[in-house]
Amino acid sequence: SVELRNVIKQYDAHTVLNGVNLSVEPGEVVTILGPSGSGKSTLIRLINQLESLSGGEIFIDGKPISQLRGAALRQLRSRIGFVFQQFNLYAHLTALSNIALALEYVHGWNKTEAEHRALELLEKVGLAEKANAYAAQLSGGQQQRVAIARALASSPQIILFDEPTSALDPEMIGEVLQVMKNLAHSGITMIVVTHEMHFAREIADRVVFIDGGDILEVAAPEDFFTRPQHPRTQRFLKKVL
Ligand code: ATP
Ligand code: MG
Repeated sequence: SVELRNVIKQYDAHTVLNGVNLSVEPGEVVTILGPSGSGKSTLIRLINQLESLSGGEIFIDGKPISQLRGAALRQLRSRIGFVFQQFNLYAHLTALSNIALALEYVHGWNKTEAEHRALELLEKVGLAEKANAYAAQLSGGQQQRVAIARALASSPQIILFDEPTSALDPEMIGEVLQVMKNLAHSGITMIVVTHEMHFAREIADRVVFIDGGDILEVAAPEDFFTRPQHPRTQRFLKKVL
C-alpha cells in the first residue's frame, strides 16, 4: 500500500503540495488528473523519492520512506517502477539490453538471467520480435512499451506512470494504453498521471483530481465523470471532455 500523510513539497518559498493525504491499496489503480502545474508529477516523484519531502510522510506498506538512504533507498526503488513521459531509453542499446542492463547493474543479476527475464518482459508487452532492435529504431509507442517492460523488470509491487502517452503520436497511444490495461488486471498497484480521460474512466478504481497543490476530489470514475462535486473539477471536465 501507499499512504501519503499531510505531504508538503516546497521549492524555496514556492509551495507545490499543500498537505496531501491519499491512501492507495495493494492492487488498486488510481489515476491522477489535474491542470498543468498542479503538482501531479511532484506527487508521484515523491513516492519513489526522486524528490524529497518538505513535510509530512509517505508510507509504503506501512513503513515511512523519507529517511531512507543508500541501500535501503535502492531497495525501495526496486519495489517501485517508474515510467516517464520521455521514455529515457538508451538509444544505442537494443530493446533487450535496455531491460537486461538495468537488472544487471542496478539489481545485480547475472547476464543470462537478466536477458532471459528481459525477453519474458518483452513478450509481455508484445515486443519479443524487437528484442535485438536498437531503441533508436523503434517507434515511440514501441519505445514506451520497452520502458514499461524495464519498469517491471524487478517485479515491483507498485508502478508509477507520469503521462506515459503524452509524448506519443496519436496512432501510438492505443498500443501503450493496451499494455497498461493488461497490467491493471495483473494485481500490481498503479498510480497513473494522465490526460487520457477514457483510460481513467475505464480502468481506474479511483480518480484523484488535484489543483494548486491540493487534492480537491477523490471518487470512483463513474461518479467523478458524471457527478463531479467540486466546482473546480466541474470546470476542468467541461474543458477536457
Ligand atoms: P504538468 O501537467 O505540466 O506536467 P504537473 O501537475 O505535473 O504539471 P509539477 O511538475 O508537479 O506539475 O509542478 C508543480 C509546480 O511545481 C509548478 O509550479 C512547477 O513550476 C513547480 N516545480 C516543479 N519542479 C520544480 C523544481 N525542480 N524547482 C522549482 N519548481 C518546480
Ligand atoms: Mg507533470
